[in-house]
Amino acid sequence: MINWQDINTVLLDMDGTLLDLHFDNHFWQHYLPTCYGKANDLSIRASKQVLFAQFAQQAHKLNWYCVDFWSQQLGLDIVSLKRDVKDKIRFRPDTVAFLTALKDKQIPRTLVTNAHPKALDLKLEHTGLGGYLDHIFSSHQFGAPKESPDFWQRFQAQYRFDPAKTLLIDDSVSVLNAAKDYGIGHLVAIANPDSQLGSIPIQGFPAIHDFKEILPSE
Ligand SMILES: [Mg+2]
Repeated sequence: MINWQDINTVLLDMDGTLLDLHFDNHFWQHYLPTCYGKANDLSIRASKQVLFAQFAQQAHKLNWYCVDFWSQQLGLDIVSLKRDVKDKIRFRPDTVAFLTALKDKQIPRTLVTNAHPKALDLKLEHTGLGGYLDHIFSSHQFGAPKESPDFWQRFQAQYRFDPAKTLLIDDSVSVLNAAKDYGIGHLVAIANPDSQLGSIPIQGFPAIHDFKEILPSE
């Protein structure tokens, strides 16, 4: 699937790629609706209706990933609520083995996430993921989400890389499509971003279940 000789830059998504998406799905689909319902005297069902309609309006926009936006919008401290369930923040299987193998091959490991810096900090603090990375970028630094061509232009202006020799691993097909349009040469999807859900069919990109499938060989 991957010819490592053709690659000199590896860009890695965080949620659903290096970390289990179960935390995020649990937070936004269950824990937050419960808290929002209590705060506003709504049933869980009514709370979900209100929230999910607002989520849909922000899908694929930078606001969707912005904890400050949601804190203001919903009148709740989103980072503090995330801390309540931080024990669900976990590595996906073989993330550490994969990042260690890249280091052994002297391939820099660059995180490129849509996570807001405050959510990113919580995850780095809880997992120690930063110790396995060489560079860390949040799309909020660039004022556009990875789904947008603006992100890729602004990111490349700051972090020089050869798109043709770059591998992006990301669980979002919308992000992979934007990266493909920009000219990123090697794209891999994640078939099972949430450990509590089954595999999802991925169209248009090679998909892995486990980093073992693309581990650089000796
Ligand atoms: Mg992701």
